[in-house]
Amino acid sequence: MIRRFLARLIPGRPATEPRLFGPDAHRVRRTQISRGAIDVTRKLQQAGFKAFIVGGAVRDLLLGFQPKDFDLATDATPEQVKPLFRRAFIIGRRFRLVHVLAGPETIEVSTFRGRQAGEDTADEHGRLLTDNVFGNQAEDAVRRDFTINALYFDPSTESVWDYVGGVADVKAKKLRLIGDPVTRYREDPVRMLRGVRLAAKLGLRIEKKTAMPIPTLAPLIHNLPPARIFDEMEKLLLSGHAVESLRSLRHHGLHHGVLPLLDVILEQPLGQRFIDLALENTDERVRIGKSVTPAFLFATLLWHEVLASWNAAKAKGERPTPALFVAMDRVLEQQAERLAIPRRFEAVIKETWAMQPRFEQRAGQRPFRLLEHPRFRAAYDFLWLRGHSGEIPVELVDWWERFQHADTAEREHMLRPDEAPKKKRRRSRGRGRKDSRATVDAPDAPSSSSEH
Ligand code: ATP
Ligand code: MG
Repeated sequence: MIRRFLARLIPGRPATEPRLFGPDAHRVRRTQISRGAIDVTRKLQQAGFKAFIVGGAVRDLLLGFQPKDFDLATDATPEQVKPLFRRAFIIGRRFRLVHVLAGPETIEVSTFRGRQAGEDTADEHGRLLTDNVFGNQAEDAVRRDFTINALYFDPSTESVWDYVGGVADVKAKKLRLIGDPVTRYREDPVRMLRGVRLAAKLGLRIEKKTAMPIPTLAPLIHNLPPARIFDEMEKLLLSGHAVESLRSLRHHGLHHGVLPLLDVILEQPLGQRFIDLALENTDERVRIGKSVTPAFLFATLLWHEVLASWNAAKAKGERPTPALFVAMDRVLEQQAERLAIPRRFEAVIKETWAMQPRFEQRAGQRPFRLLEHPRFRAAYDFLWLRGHSGEIPVELVDWWERFQHADTAEREHMLRPDEAPKKKRRRSRGRGRKDSRATVDAPDAPSSSSEH
């Protein structure tokens, strides 16, 4: 009792006994929890185990947001959980947990984790390398990152179990790391990125002690496996609060580790406008429930790098199309070292970029062929951003806007006069044509322009 009282007096010091908040103390109701999560919790409890909704879902509900998914925590081991369900699988090698299929849902059930003891559990910077030791609920609470992420909701009693002062932080809209911030960031530097993202997404203030070490510890991001950085950046960019999150990343000095090229890009005024516009657009789409693809977003973030490299090559007299492909590969390679953009996204990113010069061709059959392209819409959205950020004339964007919505007769009418005969053009390629933008700059007089 005294310990519990003391724990409450000393902020950040975890209690071994939880503070319970019944249904009168908050507004979370079991009707807000998915059917699958309720069923799985009930079954575990009926088998004599503890079972709770935990983490992001409880936090989101307390703050008045709709959770994406419902994760469960229990004192049952994976081997005890599995036989209770018809369709359940133990997954993960390092961090073993159970996926229970409940109707259309997959419910993730993890066993309470404790602290790791012993030597080889951290690298030389303090980063924890293992986290697969089972523990009790109090230990499970304090190994989590932020106080608001360490709350447990029991649907059967509609009560919230709080070991770390998370409920008070929810009320104060404060994001506070559990324990000593420097140690916790060293254990897992991803927590710095998570903090920035969650604060932006949920409209929270990062508590002073939690924010303070970030600029100094930011370089630790470099020690993380690139795939983890990518996962976190993907979440951040698709959160609906990308503008705010990126601003905050820069504010805390965290962007060097995640997007090393971002500095360079943002130094160019056109690059800055382009990225701002792309992020604002994405945030808006996320908020109104439209789909957004990470590939498109990464294509926008890296475009001005490609452009710089491409323009440099063209200025040296290289042929535009091969030069573009070389530039694309170079930029993706540079990013791969830090960000590990998965291969499956690379194809789409490249396609979006490679289609851009095709928008400049507005004669003959080519515009019709481009319109038929399965990725036309995304490539056009990309063109729109280029136009509205000042990189290319908006006239070209408007032309394509009209062209795609016009009927056949109108389209024929819109076509530009065909340029010089193909054979002749082919022979003269590479001599006069320095910049494909030139065709865009003089869209009304392609035949009189010097390159043709
Ligand atoms: P969201 O899913 O909205 O991005 P989340 O908090 O649910 O946010 P998850 O990655 O789903 O994020 O993690 C689930 C829970 O696991 C978190 O709420 C937190 O309690 C714990 N957790 C996640 N990442 C870490 C970490 N790096 N260190 C400690 N605990 C973590
Ligand atoms: Mg989650």
